[in-house]
Amino acid sequence: MKLLRYGPAGQEKPGLLDRDGKIRDLSGTVRDIDGEALSPAALDRLRRLDPASLPLVAGSPRLGPCVGHVSKVLAIGLNYRKHAEEAGMPIPKEPIFFLKAISSICGPNDDVTIPKGSQKTDYEVELGIVIGTKASYVAVHDAAKHIAGYCVVNDVSEREYQLERGGQWTKGKSCDTFCPIGPWLVTADEVPDAGKLQLWTEVNGERRQNSNTADLIFGIDHIVSYVSHFMTLYPGDVIPTGTPSGVAMGYNPPKFLKAGDQMRLSVEGLGEQTQRLVPYPG
Ligand code: ZN
Repeated sequence: MKLLRYGPAGQEKPGLLDRDGKIRDLSGTVRDIDGEALSPAALDRLRRLDPASLPLVAGSPRLGPCVGHVSKVLAIGLNYRKHAEEAGMPIPKEPIFFLKAISSICGPNDDVTIPKGSQKTDYEVELGIVIGTKASYVAVHDAAKHIAGYCVVNDVSEREYQLERGGQWTKGKSCDTFCPIGPWLVTADEVPDAGKLQLWTEVNGERRQNSNTADLIFGIDHIVSYVSHFMTLYPGDVIPTGTPSGVAMGYNPPKFLKAGDQMRLSVEGLGEQTQRLVPYPG
Protein backbone atom coordinates (compact mmCIF):
# COMPACT_ATOMS: atom_id res chain seq x y z
CA MET A 1 0.00 0.00 0.00
CA LYS A 2 0.95 3.58 -0.58
CA LEU A 3 -0.30 5.69 2.32
CA LEU A 4 -0.27 9.45 2.30
CA ARG A 5 -1.66 12.58 3.89
CA TYR A 6 -3.27 15.32 1.85
CA GLY A 7 -4.70 18.77 2.38
CA PRO A 8 -3.55 22.08 3.85
CA ALA A 9 -0.59 22.06 6.24
CA GLY A 10 -1.69 21.08 9.72
CA GLN A 11 -5.08 19.84 8.50
CA GLU A 12 -3.99 16.83 6.46
CA LYS A 13 -6.35 13.91 6.00
CA PRO A 14 -5.27 10.28 5.63
CA GLY A 15 -5.34 8.80 2.17
CA LEU A 16 -4.29 5.90 0.04
CA LEU A 17 -2.87 5.98 -3.47
CA ASP A 18 -4.78 3.46 -5.61
CA ARG A 19 -3.41 1.47 -8.54
CA ASP A 20 -4.40 4.22 -10.97
CA GLY A 21 -2.42 6.81 -9.02
CA LYS A 22 -5.58 8.39 -7.61
CA ILE A 23 -6.00 9.42 -3.98
CA ARG A 24 -8.68 7.64 -1.95
CA ASP A 25 -9.86 9.16 1.30
CA LEU A 26 -9.19 7.08 4.40
CA SER A 27 -10.65 9.47 6.96
CA GLY A 28 -13.68 7.21 7.46
CA THR A 29 -11.30 4.41 8.47
CA VAL A 30 -8.35 5.92 10.37
CA ARG A 31 -7.78 9.19 12.22
CA ASP A 32 -4.46 9.83 10.52
CA ILE A 33 -1.49 8.04 8.96
CA ASP A 34 0.49 7.96 12.18
CA GLY A 35 1.94 5.49 14.65
CA GLU A 36 -1.49 4.14 15.51
CA ALA A 37 -2.32 3.38 11.87
CA LEU A 38 1.04 1.72 11.24
CA SER A 39 0.87 -1.27 13.57
CA PRO A 40 0.80 -4.63 11.77
CA ALA A 41 -2.85 -5.16 12.79
CA ALA A 42 -3.91 -1.69 11.64
CA LEU A 43 -2.09 -2.11 8.33
CA ASP A 44 -3.80 -5.48 7.82
CA ARG A 45 -7.18 -3.82 8.32
CA LEU A 46 -6.31 -1.22 5.67
CA ARG A 47 -5.08 -3.93 3.34
CA ARG A 48 -8.44 -5.68 3.48
CA LEU A 49 -10.25 -2.56 2.21
CA ASP A 50 -11.25 -2.38 -1.41
CA PRO A 51 -9.73 0.92 -2.59
CA ALA A 52 -12.57 1.30 -5.10
CA SER A 53 -15.02 1.48 -2.18
CA LEU A 54 -13.23 4.51 -0.68
CA PRO A 55 -14.18 8.07 -1.67
CA LEU A 56 -12.13 9.39 -4.56
CA VAL A 57 -10.34 12.66 -3.79
CA ALA A 58 -10.87 15.21 -6.54
CA GLY A 59 -8.11 17.32 -8.07
CA SER A 60 -4.48 17.38 -7.00
CA PRO A 61 -4.39 18.46 -3.37
CA ARG A 62 -1.17 19.36 -1.59
CA LEU A 63 0.54 16.34 -0.08
CA GLY A 64 1.63 16.62 3.53
CA PRO A 65 4.43 14.63 5.17
CA CYS A 66 3.32 11.01 4.70
CA VAL A 67 3.49 10.32 8.45
CA GLY A 68 1.78 12.43 11.11
CA HIS A 69 2.57 12.85 14.82
CA VAL A 70 6.19 11.78 14.33
CA SER A 71 7.89 11.59 17.73
CA LYS A 72 11.41 11.73 16.33
CA VAL A 73 13.45 11.91 13.16
CA LEU A 74 16.64 10.06 13.95
CA ALA A 75 18.99 10.39 11.01
CA ILE A 76 22.04 8.31 10.18
CA GLY A 77 25.15 10.20 9.04
CA LEU A 78 28.03 9.24 6.72
CA ASN A 79 26.46 5.93 5.76
CA TYR A 80 27.81 5.85 2.19
CA ARG A 81 31.57 5.52 1.72
CA LYS A 82 31.93 8.08 -1.09
CA HIS A 83 29.85 10.62 0.80
CA ALA A 84 32.07 10.26 3.88
CA GLU A 85 35.05 10.84 1.56
CA GLU A 86 33.57 13.93 -0.11
CA ALA A 87 32.75 15.30 3.36
CA GLY A 88 36.39 14.74 4.33
CA MET A 89 35.38 12.53 7.25
CA PRO A 90 36.52 9.06 8.27
CA ILE A 91 34.37 6.01 7.43
CA PRO A 92 32.45 5.44 10.67
CA LYS A 93 33.14 2.30 12.69
CA GLU A 94 29.68 2.45 14.23
CA PRO A 95 26.59 4.20 12.85
CA ILE A 96 26.62 7.95 13.44
CA PHE A 97 23.24 9.47 14.22
CA PHE A 98 21.71 12.83 15.03
CA LEU A 99 18.24 14.24 15.60
CA LYS A 100 16.39 16.53 13.25
CA ALA A 101 13.84 18.77 14.98
CA ILE A 102 10.25 17.63 14.45
CA SER A 103 9.42 21.23 13.50
CA SER A 104 11.56 20.83 10.36
CA ILE A 105 9.12 18.30 8.86
CA CYS A 106 7.17 19.45 5.79
CA GLY A 107 5.36 18.04 2.78
CA PRO A 108 7.30 16.43 -0.09
CA ASN A 109 6.60 19.26 -2.52
CA ASP A 110 6.44 22.23 -0.15
CA ASP A 111 8.80 25.14 -0.66
CA VAL A 112 12.09 24.82 1.21
CA THR A 113 13.13 28.03 2.94
CA ILE A 114 16.75 29.13 2.88
CA PRO A 115 17.46 30.20 6.47
CA LYS A 116 18.15 33.88 7.15
CA GLY A 117 21.69 34.67 6.00
CA SER A 118 22.43 31.08 4.94
CA GLN A 119 25.13 30.59 2.30
CA LYS A 120 25.50 26.81 2.51
CA THR A 121 22.10 25.16 2.17
CA ASP A 122 22.44 21.63 0.77
CA TYR A 123 20.28 18.63 -0.22
CA GLU A 124 20.51 14.97 0.79
CA VAL A 125 18.27 12.32 -0.76
CA GLU A 126 17.73 9.43 1.63
CA LEU A 127 15.77 6.24 2.05
CA GLY A 128 13.60 6.77 5.14
CA ILE A 129 12.58 3.90 7.41
CA VAL A 130 9.21 4.31 9.16
CA ILE A 131 8.79 2.38 12.40
CA GLY A 132 5.58 0.36 12.88
CA THR A 133 5.99 -1.16 16.34
CA LYS A 134 7.86 -0.06 19.45
CA ALA A 135 11.49 -1.16 19.26
CA SER A 136 13.83 -1.39 22.24
CA TYR A 137 16.98 -3.55 22.32
CA VAL A 138 15.98 -5.30 19.13
CA ALA A 139 18.27 -7.92 17.59
CA VAL A 140 19.31 -7.42 13.96
CA HIS A 141 17.36 -10.52 12.88
CA ASP A 142 14.19 -9.14 14.53
CA ALA A 143 14.50 -5.59 13.21
CA ALA A 144 12.42 -6.05 10.06
CA LYS A 145 9.32 -6.82 12.16
CA HIS A 146 9.44 -3.27 13.51
CA ILE A 147 9.44 -1.56 10.10
CA ALA A 148 6.07 -0.39 8.74
CA GLY A 149 7.44 0.92 5.47
CA TYR A 150 9.70 3.31 3.64
CA CYS A 151 9.59 6.79 2.18
CA VAL A 152 11.76 9.42 0.54
CA VAL A 153 13.35 11.98 2.87
CA ASN A 154 15.30 15.06 1.86
CA ASP A 155 17.67 15.65 4.79
CA VAL A 156 18.17 19.32 3.94
CA SER A 157 21.28 20.65 5.66
CA GLU A 158 23.02 23.98 6.29
CA ARG A 159 26.71 23.11 6.21
CA GLU A 160 28.00 26.19 7.98
CA TYR A 161 25.56 25.66 10.85
CA GLN A 162 26.32 21.94 10.84
CA LEU A 163 30.10 22.01 10.66
CA GLU A 164 31.47 25.48 11.42
CA ARG A 165 29.31 26.80 14.24
CA GLY A 166 30.27 24.36 17.01
CA GLY A 167 28.23 21.76 18.78
CA GLN A 168 26.15 19.06 17.16
CA TRP A 169 24.98 18.44 13.62
CA THR A 170 21.39 19.01 14.79
CA LYS A 171 22.12 22.75 14.48
CA GLY A 172 22.44 22.52 10.70
CA LYS A 173 19.71 19.92 10.19
CA SER A 174 16.67 21.37 11.92
CA CYS A 175 15.71 24.65 10.24
CA ASP A 176 12.05 25.01 9.24
CA THR A 177 11.20 23.00 6.08
CA PHE A 178 14.49 21.05 6.27
CA CYS A 179 12.73 17.68 6.35
CA PRO A 180 10.42 17.01 3.40
CA ILE A 181 8.92 13.52 3.87
CA GLY A 182 6.94 11.60 1.24
CA PRO A 183 5.15 11.66 -1.19
CA TRP A 184 3.85 8.44 0.36
CA LEU A 185 4.81 5.69 2.72
CA VAL A 186 5.17 2.40 0.86
CA THR A 187 4.47 -0.49 3.21
CA ALA A 188 7.35 -2.90 3.73
CA ASP A 189 5.52 -5.82 2.03
CA GLU A 190 5.67 -3.86 -1.24
CA VAL A 191 9.41 -3.17 -1.02
CA PRO A 192 10.99 -6.57 -1.67
CA ASP A 193 14.53 -5.38 -0.94
CA ALA A 194 15.03 -1.92 0.53
CA GLY A 195 18.76 -2.59 0.34
CA LYS A 196 18.72 -2.44 -3.47
CA LEU A 197 17.01 0.80 -4.42
CA GLN A 198 18.33 3.44 -6.78
CA LEU A 199 18.17 6.97 -5.37
CA TRP A 200 18.93 10.31 -6.98
CA THR A 201 18.71 14.09 -6.74
CA GLU A 202 18.46 16.67 -9.51
CA VAL A 203 18.95 20.39 -9.01
CA ASN A 204 17.54 22.51 -11.84
CA GLY A 205 17.57 19.38 -13.99
CA GLU A 206 21.21 18.49 -13.30
CA ARG A 207 21.66 15.07 -11.76
CA ARG A 208 23.84 15.53 -8.69
CA GLN A 209 23.30 12.39 -6.62
CA ASN A 210 22.84 8.98 -8.21
CA SER A 211 23.46 5.87 -6.15
CA ASN A 212 21.92 2.74 -4.70
CA THR A 213 21.05 1.67 -1.17
CA ALA A 214 23.20 -1.40 -1.87
CA ASP A 215 26.10 0.94 -1.05
CA LEU A 216 24.92 1.63 2.50
CA ILE A 217 27.72 0.96 4.99
CA PHE A 218 25.27 -0.08 7.71
CA GLY A 219 22.19 -1.85 6.35
CA ILE A 220 18.58 -1.22 7.27
CA ASP A 221 18.09 -3.96 9.88
CA HIS A 222 21.44 -3.14 11.46
CA ILE A 223 20.44 0.53 11.78
CA VAL A 224 17.09 -0.19 13.45
CA SER A 225 18.70 -2.63 15.86
CA TYR A 226 21.61 -0.29 16.61
CA VAL A 227 19.47 2.78 17.33
CA SER A 228 17.12 0.73 19.51
CA HIS A 229 20.01 0.08 21.87
CA PHE A 230 20.29 3.81 22.61
CA MET A 231 16.62 4.84 22.69
CA THR A 232 13.18 3.34 22.20
CA LEU A 233 11.81 3.73 18.71
CA TYR A 234 8.07 4.39 18.53
CA PRO A 235 5.55 3.74 15.78
CA GLY A 236 5.70 6.62 13.32
CA ASP A 237 9.35 7.45 14.04
CA VAL A 238 11.35 8.14 10.88
CA ILE A 239 14.96 7.12 10.28
CA PRO A 240 16.64 8.68 7.23
CA THR A 241 19.42 6.20 6.48
CA GLY A 242 22.12 8.51 5.15
CA THR A 243 22.87 10.15 1.83
CA PRO A 244 25.15 9.11 -1.04
CA SER A 245 27.83 11.31 -2.62
CA GLY A 246 27.02 14.26 -4.86
CA VAL A 247 25.84 16.78 -2.26
CA ALA A 248 26.55 20.46 -2.96
CA MET A 249 29.44 20.63 -0.48
CA GLY A 250 31.18 17.77 -2.28
CA TYR A 251 31.71 19.79 -5.46
CA ASN A 252 34.72 22.04 -6.07
CA PRO A 253 33.61 24.77 -6.01
CA PRO A 254 30.55 23.78 -3.94
CA LYS A 255 27.12 24.05 -5.55
CA PHE A 256 25.03 25.24 -2.64
CA LEU A 257 21.34 25.95 -3.14
CA LYS A 258 19.95 29.41 -3.76
CA ALA A 259 16.49 30.92 -3.91
CA GLY A 260 14.74 29.96 -7.14
CA ASP A 261 16.49 26.59 -7.47
CA GLN A 262 14.41 23.48 -7.85
CA MET A 263 15.20 20.09 -6.30
CA ARG A 264 13.83 16.78 -7.50
CA LEU A 265 14.56 13.66 -5.51
CA SER A 266 13.52 10.06 -5.70
CA VAL A 267 14.10 6.63 -4.24
CA GLU A 268 13.16 3.76 -6.56
CA GLY A 269 9.57 2.64 -6.02
CA LEU A 270 8.88 5.28 -3.38
CA GLY A 271 7.90 8.21 -5.60
CA GLU A 272 9.37 11.64 -6.20
CA GLN A 273 9.65 14.92 -4.38
CA THR A 274 9.98 18.39 -5.93
CA GLN A 275 10.84 21.48 -3.91
CA ARG A 276 11.48 25.06 -4.83
CA LEU A 277 13.97 27.04 -2.76
CA VAL A 278 12.61 30.30 -1.41
CA PRO A 279 14.29 33.07 0.58
CA TYR A 280 13.49 33.54 4.25
CA PRO A 281 10.45 35.83 4.33
CA GLY A 282 11.13 39.45 5.27
ZN1 ZN B 1 21.57 12.95 5.92
